Order: sequence, then C-alpha cells, then structure tokens
Amino acid sequence: MSSFKEIFNSHTWSEVQQSISSKTVKDVEHALQKEKRDIEDFKALISPAAEAYLEQMAQLSHLLTQKRFGKTMQMYAPMYLSNECQNICTYCAFSLDNKIKRKTLSDAEIIQEAEAIKAMGYDHILLVTGEANQSVGVPYLKHAIQLLRPYFSNISIEVQPLEQAEYEVLRQEGLHTVLVYQETYHQENYKTHHPKGKKSNFYYRLETPDRLGKAAIYKIGLGILIGLEDWRTDSFFTALHLNYLEKTYWQTKYSISFPRLRPIELAKEDGQHIQPASQYISDKQLVQLICAYRIFNEEVELSLSTRESETFRNHSLKLGITSMSAGSKTNPGGYSVEPQSLEQFEISDERSPKEIAHIIKQQGYEPVWKDWDKILS
Ligand code: SF4
Repeated sequence: MSSFKEIFNSHTWSEVQQSISSKTVKDVEHALQKEKRDIEDFKALISPAAEAYLEQMAQLSHLLTQKRFGKTMQMYAPMYLSNECQNICTYCAFSLDNKIKRKTLSDAEIIQEAEAIKAMGYDHILLVTGEANQSVGVPYLKHAIQLLRPYFSNISIEVQPLEQAEYEVLRQEGLHTVLVYQETYHQENYKTHHPKGKKSNFYYRLETPDRLGKAAIYKIGLGILIGLEDWRTDSFFTALHLNYLEKTYWQTKYSISFPRLRPIELAKEDGQHIQPASQYISDKQLVQLICAYRIFNEEVELSLSTRESETFRNHSLKLGITSMSAGSKTNPGGYSVEPQSLEQFEISDERSPKEIAHIIKQQGYEPVWKDWDKILS
C-alpha cells in the first residue's frame, strides 16, 4: 500500500453516512463491551444511537485516558509567524481574497514573541503560517526553527503541506510534530470550500501524512474543520486515516484535534463579523466525538484549543483530552508585537495560561509545560 488514497477511494461518502445512521443501540452496546474496538465500533460510537449512552461513554473515556496518560494535561501555545496566504478558503480570515494587512514576522519579532510566550511558562510551541511558499517557504521555516530552538524544547508546525525531503530537512533542525488537517474528506465539496490555490488539490493534502510518516516525523496531527460537512462521516474518515497511518508508520505518534468553525472578520465586509454555519455539531455531540475517539483508540493524543468556550473546556478536560492551549493569539505578533492586528479566527476562551492551569489543578490534574518524552526517546 503506497498511500491512504487507495483505502480512501474504496469508500463512498454516502455509503459511510448511511452505515453510521443505521447503527443500532445493540451495536453501541457491543462496541462499549469489547476489549478492542474496530472502525465499525467507531461508527456505532459516533452514531445517533450512541447519544443515549453519553454518560457511559464519558466514564469509559475518562478511565481509559487516565490509564494511558495519567492525570496530566500537556500545555502548548500557537505562535503565528505569518498571515500571508496564496489560497482561497471560504472560512478563513487569511484567505487570499480577504483584503487585510499582511504580515510575516522578522527575526527580531520572532524572538520578541518567543520571549513573551516563554514568560507565560510554555515550553511547547506550535508555529502557524498561512500557505505562502514565497514568503514562508522551507528556508523561512528552517530559519524560524533555528531561532526558536534555544527557547523551546518541543516545536510543532501547522503550515502548507510539504514534500517528504522538505520535512526531513526541518526534522533535522529539531521539528517534532506536524499538524495537517484535511478540513473535510468530502471530495466534491472540498473544492467548494477551497476554490483556488495549491490547497484545492485534494489528494496532495490527503497524502501529506504519508509523506510525514516516510520522513519519520515524530508526531502527526490529524483533524477536520467541524462544521464544513457532516461531522460524523468526516470523523469516520479521520479515524480510518488514523488507523491506516498507525499500521503503516507504527513508530510515529498521532494526535487528533476538533476545531469547530469560529466567526472570522472579513475586511471586505467593513470589519463585520461573519458567523459561519457551525450548527452541525452541538456541545453534547462534540463530547460524544471526543469520547468515541478515546474508546476507539487508547493511544491517540486528543487536543482542544481555545476555539472552545470556557464552560466547554472546563467540563470536557477530564473526558479524554490530553493537550490544551491557553492564552492563544491567532495573529502574527499577537503576544508582543502587534496585539491589535487581524486574527485568523476569534478565540472563545480568553483566560490566561495561569488561570487555565488553576482550573486544571482544581480538577485534580497536573498541567505539563515541559515534555520529557523527546529526551527519553
Ligand atoms: S485555512 Fe490556511 S490555507 Fe486556507 S486561507 Fe486560511 S491560512 Fe490560508
């Protein structure tokens, strides 16, 4: 098997959707009782029939997470290096057709941001850029990692998909993790959401985790943008992708994120806030999804960002989540250089890392700022 594409092409969206909605209470009970679950069990756990079993799922997910990860919560902060982007994505403020001020951080600004984030207590950093190969291509990313290594022991990126050799170059500089979200596995509608730019190439994005696995990147982060398409069907394909990757690149670690669409600010609308159609998943259903992933896969890391509200994060942190951001800024220079410039999306939970750490401790968990994994491995 050379890539996930072949497995992906052996399924159709409508058949998967139909199969999930036909799962019964019996299927859900069977999935909950098993020792080891398969992809059919995952379908049952995310199905409408499982909604009545949420309490049971939450308890099991909590237990499995504690067994594997203990009572810890890994803390990380995103650092936006640039909002330049050559793609048009219908849901993002950095989209090429949105007439906003563009900014890419200079060396001095990267250092300034690093010092501000370090002062908040962080040792894990996620570098984020738009997808602009000219201004934030591999040479820029390589240099940024070199600048940041003295400050952070764990560096992740969420940038444009790259070639295997390019990932290898960045890994040698100290890159630890790469997040690459498919956004949606609905191939036809993917084109509607990504009409222009390199990102419109569905299969190039779909095969990115394969290139990451071949490049021996330590950890790969998967996800969809919840709210673009039917979350259940999209989550099935994410789990299928995860299953394939774990079997193929078994030395790699994996994480899943659950970004839900957030309001964005569009310059062409005179600063008016555009509310995305995020009615596709309720808070309760998002909890169901988090628990389903955990029950399906005891090893995968589950990450929750500040896109989610204070209340949701307070209530869900013990249910399966293993890493969280806090005090995040989603604009380049947001921590120290340019606090007022346009954000990629609005943050929902605006509490400081200190406040979040307090909440985590109140619930009997330990916030982890420094991960010793890398040193031990
Ligand atoms: S989602 Fe990414 S690729 Fe799309 S416009 Fe935003 S920054 Fe660019």
